[in-house]
Amino acid sequence: MKKPLSFALIGRSGCGKGTQAELLMKHFGNLFYVSTGNLLRELAKLDTLAGKSAKEIMHKGDLIPDFMIIGLWMKELNLNLKVDQGVLFDGAFRRLIEAQEADEYFNFLDRKGTLFPILIDISREEAYDRLTKRRICKKCGKIFPWVGEFKKLEKCDKCGGELQHRADDNPDAINNRLAYFDKEVLEVLEYYKKDNRLITVNGEQTVEKVFEDILKAVKAK
Ligand SMILES: [Zn+2]
Repeated sequence: MKKPLSFALIGRSGCGKGTQAELLMKHFGNLFYVSTGNLLRELAKLDTLAGKSAKEIMHKGDLIPDFMIIGLWMKELNLNLKVDQGVLFDGAFRRLIEAQEADEYFNFLDRKGTLFPILIDISREEAYDRLTKRRICKKCGKIFPWVGEFKKLEKCDKCGGELQHRADDNPDAINNRLAYFDKEVLEVLEYYKKDNRLITVNGEQTVEKVFEDILKAVKAK
């Protein structure tokens, strides 16, 4: 049996990871979705000692230690990943050790060489522009990226609610997030470049074109 492929979507905030994740899930049909952000939010809701610690750290805007992040997605996959499924990591891996541990884990699963990181590349300036301008629906919480057709929307296309800017999309918070990418994630990209695994697509194109480029690059691997 051919081993199913797995992907890790990497990119600056605002690059459109979430949208591309949805498209990849639909296209491949056999991917198990893992979002570090979702797992952390679930953890922080738990009435446990670790849940309490995570909540406090996130509230202060500090970083959750890497062993916690690794532990979370590993447990999720241990309990859920079926033999005929690949994995789609959304927003991982953000630190070198996470990327290295993921490779060890894939070796353990006998899936060596099946994990492909995909960088959706947008410049820091573009990211800043998109994040300061993107909007969220006041009523249903849907996020509207500052790209293409979405720029023309005046009301939420799902519920008709009013659109506004997100509170945590202020310039300081945005600059922090983008600085983190330059400091930590670039090291991860270098790691993947060494064995020629990294798929890089230009994220400053339409959603459709970005997806098309991803599929083309995956096929060529
Ligand atoms: Zn809405």
